[in-house]
Parts: sequence; C-alpha cells; structure tokens
Amino acid sequence: MKSLLSRALLRTMRPGRYQRFLEFRSNERLPAADLAALGKRRLTSLLRHACRTVPFYREFCRHNGLDPEHVDAGDLPRFPSLDKHDLMRDQERFYSDARDLNDRVPNATGGSSGVWFQFFVDRTSIDKRTGNAMRSASWTGWRPGEKQAVLWGHPRDNRITHSLRGRLMADLVHRSANLNAYNMDDRALEEYTRRLQTWRPTMIRGYASALAFLSEHLVRRGIRLDSVKGLISSAETLTDDYRRTVEKVFDGKLLNRYGSREFADIAQQCEEVDGLHVFIDRVHVEILDPEGNPCPPGHRGEIVVTDLENGVMPFIRYRTGDLAWFREDACPCGRGLPLLGAVEGRTSELIVGKNGKYYSCQSPRLFGSDIHGIGQMQLIQDSLEEILIKIVPDARWNQDSQDALRERMCSLLGDIDVVIRLVDEIPPAPSGKYPFTISRVSPFHRQDHK
Ligand SMILES: [Zn+2]
Repeated sequence: MKSLLSRALLRTMRPGRYQRFLEFRSNERLPAADLAALGKRRLTSLLRHACRTVPFYREFCRHNGLDPEHVDAGDLPRFPSLDKHDLMRDQERFYSDARDLNDRVPNATGGSSGVWFQFFVDRTSIDKRTGNAMRSASWTGWRPGEKQAVLWGHPRDNRITHSLRGRLMADLVHRSANLNAYNMDDRALEEYTRRLQTWRPTMIRGYASALAFLSEHLVRRGIRLDSVKGLISSAETLTDDYRRTVEKVFDGKLLNRYGSREFADIAQQCEEVDGLHVFIDRVHVEILDPEGNPCPPGHRGEIVVTDLENGVMPFIRYRTGDLAWFREDACPCGRGLPLLGAVEGRTSELIVGKNGKYYSCQSPRLFGSDIHGIGQMQLIQDSLEEILIKIVPDARWNQDSQDALRERMCSLLGDIDVVIRLVDEIPPAPSGKYPFTISRVSPFHRQDHK
C-alpha cells in the first residue's frame, strides 16, 4: 500500500524523472533498428551542439574543414578520443558557451584512479540519469515506490539528510536506505543486517565486494532477507567468486551494472543475467583497440563513450579505461538495446604476461584465489618481469600453497619473478573499492590513441 502512495508522491514531486522512467521503459521495447536510429539522431544533435558552442570543438571543425551545421553521427570517428587528462588540461574549452552556468551541476570522479577530476553535467540531465537508473533497477523486479538499500562507499552518496523535508523525501519518496560500504567490519555488518531486516527493501545495490561481504555475514548468521527481489552490483568488477557468494543467500537475481560518475549508468544485465544491454538512448558506446580502431564484435577493446544528454560539457569519445566487447546476437528478453559481452575491468587492471597474453581480473580463481590458505589476495604488476602478490593468509597457508601459487603465475605469465608478501589486511582504495589487480603495464597504456 505504502509503495503505491510513494509512487504517487514520486509522480507528483518528481514528475520529470518519473516521466523519463516511463519514456526509457517504452524505448527499450522498440525494434533494435528504431532504437539505433533514435540514438543516431541524438548523437547528431549533440555533435552539432558541441561544434557550434564548445570552443574545443569549434576549433576542431575549423581545422578539419567540418561545417558545424552539417556534422552528423557518421562523422564521429573523425573526432578525437579523449581521456580525463585531456579534458583537465584545458577544461574551460570544453564548456558550452550557449548554456547558462547556473544550469550546471558539479560532479567529480577520482577515488580509484587517484586523479581528482571535477566536471559538470546539465541540470536537466539529472532527471534523465535518475529515470534511467529507475529503468535499470526495474529489471530486478523492483517498482518505483518500493524500498531499496544502497551499499555504497562514496561520501557524496552517503550524505545524511537532517532536514525534515530531506528525511521525508528519503523515507516516503525515494525510499532508499544508504549503508556505508567503506570499511565494513563485523560491527557494521551486524548493524546493516538489523537495518535491512527492519527496512525490508525490495532491491539492494552496491559494490560487488560489499554485497559479497554482506552475503558472507548473512550466511554465517543463517539469515535470509526474503523481501529482496533482486540485486544490482556496480562500480567494481563482479567476479565469479563474488557472484557465487551473493547467490548463496539471495533468491533474487544479481544483475551486473556498468557505469561511471561521468555518464551514470551505461549498460546493465537484464533478468537473463547474460550480456549487458547498452542504454543507447542516452549514451553512444564504441569499443576501440589500442590503436583507436573499432573492434569487431567478440573482440575485446576499450569502452569509449559519448554522452547524448550532457549539453553543458559534452563528453565526446571519452576513453573510460574499461574493457568490453560487443555481441552480435539479440537477447531473449526482447529488448532492442544491444549487448556488451562483459565488462572486464579496467585497462589498468590487466595483468600482462611476458608471453604477450593479458588477463582481466574477472576470475580470481584463474590466478589462484582457490589455493588453500589464501584468504584474500591482490596482484600488483609494475613490470613484465615481476609480479607482487599480497596475501592475507588463513590457517591453511603453507609451503605447498606458496609453490602452487608460483606455479600458477608462471604458467599464465611466463618465466617471471613472483614476489609473495603476507599482509594482515588489504585496504580498500579511497573510493571504498577493492581492486583485485593493479597494473602499470597494460597494453592500452602504450598507445595514446587520438
Ligand atoms: Zn535482455
């Protein structure tokens, strides 16, 4: 009953985002060709807007003989692909001079990579971002007006609202309980479990590691949260181990979502729990190889994104540093949104062998997390000759574990030095995320494709 009241309040108090939610829900049922055409129209319009009003792109047009009034989606490959460092170098040249500066909302990224990057998004795009988040959440079975819990580490998302209006909005309209995923010790997990048992959310979303820690705690306590219809993991690579742990305690499906601060949600698994549907009605996604050429379907490359909604600071061909590949097949769910095969972590998380092979951090078991005695592990690679492995050992750790781990590494990476360091804990990055691998030799770092 209360969820109906909340949905009615949401419609009244946040009509923009509810309208966007309905629009996105109806878009995804369009035939694939119609959806692709819609994305192309939005891309053309964004490119023209940027070429007319953004100093960097005005100059780009002048240099390349492009007429801003006639640029279209087909010209996109001529635009330079840029990363956050390119944008930071001369940031003011990326602001549209046609937009009122009061209409922009600051946002920032920086936790996991250590580079603080502040940027702006259109105030009008906030409703679109939220409407799209509601669409992707609805794929778990959650409906607007129902309760959700969020296990998140970013302080920006965990601000506690003290005003009466803020508390009423959180309780009655957004119906979201925010739990801090940073430093989840046993005391915090116990408190979260109590809150979740009383709050009874329909959906939980959070970092993969945070969901796994919570699930392990629930297993130990023998507790099931039967109100939960589904879960969404995001902002961190969802490893097979994490998925197995979460699926032990929840009946609902765990869907993997891919997004970033710069773009909000980019792609997500549907209830088929297979590929990730790209939200092409709000972002244009390319997969590029280290030389900047498009990868054919099935071939892994870097995810490069153009935001179709942010007019105040257009992000065009923005290099995310994340890896994925396109699939050609359609999803049995019938949605016309195309599929990414998987998001395989970041280019900065690739472990590279002397033999030229490279591995994503998707399967820690491949690297030996299943070897007896390993509680938690992290791989750090600074050169092709050596790998440092941090291990939080458990009681079973012994010489055999060490030998097995060395053998596993050399079979994957060639004849390299394997340095094993036993530690008491592996601290999370400032963002609260736990990167399984940290690599400074990714093949994607060698080329600065423009
Ligand atoms: Zn699907």
